[in-house]
Amino acid sequence: MRRRIFAANWKMHHDPLAAASFALRFEELSSPVEGRHLWFFPPAVSLATAAEAFGRRPDISVGAQNVYWEAKGAFTGETSPLMVAGCGGRGALVGHSERRHVFGETDAETVKKVKALIAQRLIPMLCVGEKLPEREAGHTADVVRRQLRAVLTEITVTEAAELLVAYEPVWAIGTGRVAQPQDAAEVHRVIRTVLHEHRVPGRVPVLYGGSVSLANVAGLLAEDEIDGVLVGGASLDPAGWASIVAAGT
Ligand code: PEP
Repeated sequence: MRRRIFAANWKMHHDPLAAASFALRFEELSSPVEGRHLWFFPPAVSLATAAEAFGRRPDISVGAQNVYWEAKGAFTGETSPLMVAGCGGRGALVGHSERRHVFGETDAETVKKVKALIAQRLIPMLCVGEKLPEREAGHTADVVRRQLRAVLTEITVTEAAELLVAYEPVWAIGTGRVAQPQDAAEVHRVIRTVLHEHRVPGRVPVLYGGSVSLANVAGLLAEDEIDGVLVGGASLDPAGWASIVAAGT
């Protein structure tokens, strides 16, 4: 059976109170479905609340939006994988385009974050994707290959088999400009080829992210290459998110 993943990136929205009321409402609207897994990535301050609120649902995991690679120490403002695990988190986004392009995160830093998560037995959801000038210059595949290879050369194939990958073209994030399903699927095939070249066993789930909405989710998920979606803006409202999840299932 084909497995589907629906991941909600709340970005800097939903404090603990809002996260708890979201969870209550969402659970009224959406029940577990075989083969479908949901992820929520709340802000760090809401992680423990969300993990507890969704705790009765084996089909739901909660993760952090970012981590630092050290376990503890004088790193003001940072959150370690150890702390994420302590809050009930099961993974984290790594290399989200806002981390890369707003906060200047490098490929080398994403590698350290992925390794630190794996060491803590947490699941990294590695985000890769090109900026608009890179797409226009025909460099999409090169950018995605570079971002993915940076990580795959530093971890074992067994560790790589546990990754989740999200292809998120930067020009599509938060812009309302979604990639055409066939164009996204083409980049997903590049990602699968790189995984294959690195001899990663099994089928690593590859999600698409960037302006996913109720209007386009079914079309995207109709592509065999697209195993799920990572959604920002359209995941913030429980009823809206439940409809998107239902429409894509
Ligand atoms: C994201 O933040 O990962 C994202 C895809 O955002 P949006 O759905 O708002 O484009």
